[in-house]
Amino acid sequence: MTSQRTRMRMIERLRDQGIADEVVLSVMNTIPRHLFIEEALASRAYEDVSLPINFGQTISSPWIVARMSELLRANSNLGNVLEIGTGCGYQTAILAQLASQVYSIERIGPLLTRTRIRLHKLQIRNIFLKHADGMLGLSESGPFDGIIITAVTAHIPPVLLNQLALGGRIVFPKGSRKQNLCIIERNTQGFIERVLEEVNFVPILSGVIKK
Ligand code: SAH
Repeated sequence: MTSQRTRMRMIERLRDQGIADEVVLSVMNTIPRHLFIEEALASRAYEDVSLPINFGQTISSPWIVARMSELLRANSNLGNVLEIGTGCGYQTAILAQLASQVYSIERIGPLLTRTRIRLHKLQIRNIFLKHADGMLGLSESGPFDGIIITAVTAHIPPVLLNQLALGGRIVFPKGSRKQNLCIIERNTQGFIERVLEEVNFVPILSGVIKK
């Protein structure tokens, strides 16, 4: 159920479903997704579904993780990356193989504590986890070549846009009831937005939860 063969079948399916970035696919082939999910659900880890991860949150489906990763990478290696919404840390672990360093912010303290232990066990070192409201960004560690938001929001606050490097991009689900993946790119003229396929995410919430 959780073997390398099951994972390879997931990769073949993602390729069939249009994921074209082979670097993303090969990284997803090395990360054991079942270790990010509660034991009772681990046998479903490689199905193309999102699954519950406690505290009312969900791990994104393999297709969403692959799609957002390929959009963020845009066919070149990433330098400094910011993730908002660490959750179980699966997307974080993938990004850590695609970028020089990944800063990831989660608002639910106890969820982040579990994720910290999990990522430490997997010996992923180039990540920095922070318990905070992610929509304020992390200006002291920016600017970022890529920002990824794994919960849906109607708009990006200026404080976050300002932490994007020139030539960098933000990938996030935009909307409220109807949601679409969206890319905002920063160039010398300003910010350019592109709206892509329809998706379904849990919402961005403000403030932090301590216990
Ligand atoms: N990439 C994660 C997705 C988790 S769901 C995974 O695959 O596991 C979205 C996550 O965003 C949740 O863990 C939620 O607590 C977090 N989140 C929501 N609003 C946030 C905010 N303002 N700052 C930081 N994290 C936030």
